[in-house]
Amino acid sequence: MWLAAAAFVVGLSLHGSGGFNRSVDGSLGIVCDLLPTALCWAVAAKAGARQYEVGCLAAGVTAWAGGDVIFRAAAMRHMDLGFPSVADAGYLAFYPLVLAALALAVRRQLRGVQASIWLDSVLVAVAAACAIGVLLDPVLARTEGSLPAKIISTSYPVFDMLLIAAAVGVLALRGWRLRTTWLWPIAGLGIFAIGDIVYALRVAHNAYHLGTVLDAFWAVGLACLASWVRSSGAGEPAPKAETALAVPVLATLLAVLVLCAGTQIHLPMISVVLAALTVVMAAGRTQYAFRQLRRLADLRRQATTDDLTGLPNRRALYQDVTASLAADTEPRALLLLDLDRFKEVNDSLGHHVGDLLLTQVSERLSGQLRAGDLLARLGGDEFAIVLEKADESAALATSRRLHDALAAAFTFEDISLHTSVSIGIALFPDHGSDISTLLRRADVAMYKAKSARDGHCVYRTSDDSRGHERLRTLQQLRTAMTEDQLILHFQPKIDVRTGEIHSVEALVRWEHPTRGLLYPGSFLEMVEDSGLMHALTRRVLVKALDQACSWQTQGTPLGVAVNIPAASLLDGEFPGFVAGQLALRRLPPRTLQLEITEETLMGDRGRARDVLMTLRELGVQIAVDDFGTGYSSLAYLRELPIDELKLDRAFVFPMADDARAAALVESTINLAHSLGLRMVAEGVEDKPTYNELSRFGCDQIQGFYISRPVPAAELDHWMSQRVVQVSEVSHGTGA
Ligand code: C2E
Ligand code: CA
Ligand code: CA
Repeated sequence: MWLAAAAFVVGLSLHGSGGFNRSVDGSLGIVCDLLPTALCWAVAAKAGARQYEVGCLAAGVTAWAGGDVIFRAAAMRHMDLGFPSVADAGYLAFYPLVLAALALAVRRQLRGVQASIWLDSVLVAVAAACAIGVLLDPVLARTEGSLPAKIISTSYPVFDMLLIAAAVGVLALRGWRLRTTWLWPIAGLGIFAIGDIVYALRVAHNAYHLGTVLDAFWAVGLACLASWVRSSGAGEPAPKAETALAVPVLATLLAVLVLCAGTQIHLPMISVVLAALTVVMAAGRTQYAFRQLRRLADLRRQATTDDLTGLPNRRALYQDVTASLAADTEPRALLLLDLDRFKEVNDSLGHHVGDLLLTQVSERLSGQLRAGDLLARLGGDEFAIVLEKADESAALATSRRLHDALAAAFTFEDISLHTSVSIGIALFPDHGSDISTLLRRADVAMYKAKSARDGHCVYRTSDDSRGHERLRTLQQLRTAMTEDQLILHFQPKIDVRTGEIHSVEALVRWEHPTRGLLYPGSFLEMVEDSGLMHALTRRVLVKALDQACSWQTQGTPLGVAVNIPAASLLDGEFPGFVAGQLALRRLPPRTLQLEITEETLMGDRGRARDVLMTLRELGVQIAVDDFGTGYSSLAYLRELPIDELKLDRAFVFPMADDARAAALVESTINLAHSLGLRMVAEGVEDKPTYNELSRFGCDQIQGFYISRPVPAAELDHWMSQRVVQVSEVSHGTGA
């Protein structure tokens, strides 16, 4: 195809119009029509996803080639077809078909191009059309001939304007880069349009002769279009947004120039209209750009603001602090704040209350800061504060103020709750010179403050190993879960009236490979933080039921109580899981007792109630753990399906030497009884407390005085010894 086109060009340019050989050059011209046509159809046959665009292009090329073959065949026989002729039908059909093919290809390949680029491209295309219109003035102004002749003769220049506009538009869409497969159609259309325009102008000035190089323009144009079809149709990455802004500006200037010229000299109507359109579009483009700019500013603000509290977010903190640390080396303090037990509030009282709490906390915190200080919410219940020009003592003073500010109760609707905060402090420049180091160190200090229940803590270099330790522990915890390092200890509850043991509480322990036996206080929070709580609850439940099962088969049946955190209880699949595990072991459901905390009941009360009802209908027992420490009103006791209250040891402990504490316990026991509930006292460590509780009518007692939590085997041994003791005693009494 390209060889034929080259031969055609070379032939025509060598011998000029004088030596034009109608049969040789004419036949070559026909070959140059047929080869691209054949190539297009060959590709169209297996175009796949591109079938429509390739089909359109093939049809367009065929139409043009058909018209041209007729024209050339007639010319070879010295026949004048006249104007308009059949050949024109073929020529004219080419334009809409090729423009359609181009539109389809653009749509397929340039999906995702930004609206602004489209606008620029259309703007430039219209301006280009406007300029070509000026150029084509003599052609457009031609008025002789019949009406169809007039229509057809103006159609050509109009189509040419469209071709140029399309080529320029695609070029603009591609960001004015000409390296890709788009080179072919742009070149093809351009060459075609130039050929057309030169031809039309020559005809208009009666200067056209058959057989000049001009005749080869279309042959080369067709070859370009056919090569485009051949080249890979793979989608290209969308071009970058930054179209050379100068081009739309130049296009607009050009349009204004045309409009101005139009007042002085004659210009074709179409050019004036297109110029006006360009100017209007440029105005629209400016408007659009302005709106985009505003949106960008909005997005920027959103990206650095926390939605809930309106405070700067983590990103803003990084940006601001990085900038300010670069500016000067004044001492600063970074305070990292983490609310204590916030997850509990969220789980039990609901996210709504959690959100309200965070908002109020953020308000109280900002009330304590000076103008230059920065308060940011890092996410969840974590806040960061940067104190300008502050040393260690200033940071500590501020920490104390913050604690005081948060000490008063927070009230929402009918709930009132207390929260506390742990604060880790890192100092600039002593503890780090960039924000991420400072944050990391403040985090280490914060965990130290949390575990020591200190309220706040300044980072010390020696703490860093603890931070690493925490991370290591977390990994080990995951292994512990999969490798069965979690075991259970059991603590009996004694029936005060009969002295018998009917049930035990299962308490989780971690048999750490190097650190020995760990108690829940040292790892439960981490379990919670790392999202492993559900897994732990289920594991403990399974193990506890396994143990209950073996006591059952040993002939010493014991009930087991398992601690269930709010989140696990309110998990929709939980009741089903419990029912399944009980059925699996054919255990009577009464064997299992679930200990839940008051907070569980306070949150989504409707949902908690439904879940508890389901469990209760199974026959499982429900106990309220740590009773008296929650945030609750007592109303729920009446409404909810509860069997037992476990009075927290905070009430039991002071009984021995505080008459008012004792009175409180007594009335609480009476309250439980009047509601038909069993009362269990926790944390009983000595005989006087035991006797007092017994006198108050407490039903069951759990505590070190009876037994510490112990492994099942040890408990079995203890129980058998006890039986002996008890029977010896009764034997003795009998004797
Ligand atoms: P809790 O449910 O209130 O469990 C009773 C805790 O009081 C146990 O601590 C127990 O060893 C301790 N205790 C019992 N009698 C006395 C006493 O006379 N004096 C004193 N000072 N303490 C006594 P432990 O085993 O360290 O458990 C602490 C907490 O960890 C439990 O409090 C419970 O909230 C949680 N926990 C334990 N096991 C699990 C579990 O399997 N799952 C979940 N989610 N939480 C658990
Ligand atoms: Ca418990
Ligand atoms: Ca308890």
